[in-house]
Amino acid sequence: MGEVDLSTRVEDLPGVTARRAGLLRALGVTNLGWLVAHLPLRHERVEPASAIGGIVAGAIVTVVGEVVKTRPVRGRRPRFEAILTDGSGRLDVVWFNMMYVGESVVPGVRVRVEGKATARMGVAQMVNPRWSVVRGEEEEDAGEAGPREGYWRAVYPASEGLRSGEIRGIVRRVLPLALPRIEDHLSEEYRRERSMPELREAYRMQHDPRDEAEIAASRRRLAYDELLLLQLGVHLKRAHLRRTLRAPALAWSEALDARIRGRLAFTLTRAQDRVVREVAADLARDTPTNRLIQGDVGSGKTVVAAYAMLQSVASGHQACLLAPTEILAEQHGAGLGRLLAGSGVRLGVLTGSTAAGEREALLARMREGEVDIVVGTHALLGERVEFRALGVAVIDEQHRFGVHQRARLRAHATDERSTAHVLVMTATPIPRTLGVTLFGDLDVSTIDELPPGRTPIETRVFRGDARETVYAEVARRLAQGEQAYIVAPAIEAGEAEGDEIARGGETLRDVRGLLAELEGGWLRGHRLAALHGRLARETRDAVMERFRLGQIAAVVSTTVIEVGVDVANATMMVVEQADRFGLAQLHQLRGRVGRGSKASACWLVADPSTPEAEGRLRAIASTTDGFALAEKDFELRGPGEMFGTRQSGVAPLRVADLMRDRELLAMARRDAAAWIERSPTLGAPEDALAKRRLLKAHGAALGLGDVG
Ligand code: ADP
Ligand code: MG
Repeated sequence: MGEVDLSTRVEDLPGVTARRAGLLRALGVTNLGWLVAHLPLRHERVEPASAIGGIVAGAIVTVVGEVVKTRPVRGRRPRFEAILTDGSGRLDVVWFNMMYVGESVVPGVRVRVEGKATARMGVAQMVNPRWSVVRGEEEEDAGEAGPREGYWRAVYPASEGLRSGEIRGIVRRVLPLALPRIEDHLSEEYRRERSMPELREAYRMQHDPRDEAEIAASRRRLAYDELLLLQLGVHLKRAHLRRTLRAPALAWSEALDARIRGRLAFTLTRAQDRVVREVAADLARDTPTNRLIQGDVGSGKTVVAAYAMLQSVASGHQACLLAPTEILAEQHGAGLGRLLAGSGVRLGVLTGSTAAGEREALLARMREGEVDIVVGTHALLGERVEFRALGVAVIDEQHRFGVHQRARLRAHATDERSTAHVLVMTATPIPRTLGVTLFGDLDVSTIDELPPGRTPIETRVFRGDARETVYAEVARRLAQGEQAYIVAPAIEAGEAEGDEIARGGETLRDVRGLLAELEGGWLRGHRLAALHGRLARETRDAVMERFRLGQIAAVVSTTVIEVGVDVANATMMVVEQADRFGLAQLHQLRGRVGRGSKASACWLVADPSTPEAEGRLRAIASTTDGFALAEKDFELRGPGEMFGTRQSGVAPLRVADLMRDRELLAMARRDAAAWIERSPTLGAPEDALAKRRLLKAHGAALGLGDVG
């Protein structure tokens, strides 16, 4: 056998049979390096075994002994009995109602049992102990009579054919060959400042820990590494963009500021004012802006977008606003239309249902620079979309999009070295912990204040059999001239729209059926209309416009109204089968009301069938704070499942846990920023290893192809 290094294939490692090599490969472990990186799932404590002869009745002990005799006893109290000996004495063991024990515990094998010892007529006895069969490699560490002292051992992700114990045996044999070859990408000084073990030591401690402290110290180091490399990648990318790309410097002046504010129907809140200033200062520079504007539903983000777009237009550039749904794009179009009435600013709306002729004309005007602001949906990201001089691109409700859309928008620039300023807006759906990971390359502005005069929304949860109470309240409000939204998960009987959390069995309540039911029953005499994604655009627009004007009292809708829709006179939101919806969705739906000065209510109808669904309903009823809910959602569902992070493409973390390792994350983030500040391209020789590792781990996901 030749020289072994980290790239040596598993089949060429000492003591690895062809069968085991195949099973390791199936686990993704192809070479020595990957074997070392195949970290334990957890560690377990192996207690020292006591000699049977020395057992004191009443003590909880661990014993390793050979099975000399077994006996299944059926009948009224079925049990399995075994007699163990270890040379020092005899132990009688009984397992009640566990006849399957007999499949593994057979005469001749050695077993480890752990439990409370009793004595019966002078013979030591144990009832229902925890047990495991002792196999070859365990005897190696245990010695004949078991370990004299307890110890920790690694438990590996295993497969049916390859047990954790076998993996442990292989790792133990080859670890000494691997460790000397593991180089550290952090210097000794760097590690010392952070009290971190050397990388090869960290791997040794994970696979073969001497004590609990080593398990913790090595986990901390490996989790930190994971977070650090991700953050380094994010900051590397950001530094690269800043260095290589230029955006138009959009002039700002007191006069312009006064002109824009003069068009608004209200005075900006203090929070809006601060954010508008931050954005305006960004746009005035020729470094591309990449800013996240977060503010809870109803905090007034739209006006910040409008301000930024007008600053662009004032400098002779164009601007666009990307919305996740057609209804929202149309609403933004209408709102901006009112704001700009009588000004010279030319506005266009581009969505998937824009008629072909109209679309061609608009695309041509965008290309020629004959339209200043374009509002649209995904249609704005199309291949053929071109701007003459795009200054600002805003993405509304960013959580509905993947991170790639930002790159697509940026690509609208006229040449490779210039780009538009990009603002993304979101209703606080990203918990801070996750945000800094996924959106670490963004500057963040927060609108942490609601416009004045809002009254808190009352949220209540009702069982399905209390629907009459719910609709009596809707009827009462409609009778007073207020308006309502009523949301159901399906359009027609048997079909869902959107991404409700699916659950088998129960029929979904649907918009058509619900509309018919309410028109003929609890809401008889009120003007109702249906709204969902399958209606023609003109119909949908007409419904929303009539609702806005108060000509329709209540819309019965799918979640198409989830984001952004803004009608101040709507004071009641009813969500049927609310347990079908995610926490973020419920919060967004609730955000459709409470937009004026009248007291609003959000009443949820649900018969939750899982503890998780119950948890969501309890959470939404307990707070209207979007930040708190985002954190809660994160806890309930984990980062992969929530708030559109699924499409983000970021490699999953294997060691670090964003909830548990918040402090490590903050540290990794600070360290990465300082590192890139010092070495913007990671071009120094001492950075080479870290750079290689980060490109390997995250290069593709972060689009670092041109950075390496
Ligand atoms: P969101 O942050 O959810 O996108 P919007 O921009 O839709 O919120 O604003 C919510 C409502 O508050 C709108 O009707 C808007 O006109 C109104 N609004 C925004 N800012 C103010 C303000 N400073 N004073 C009064 N009303 C405001
Ligand atoms: Mg909005």
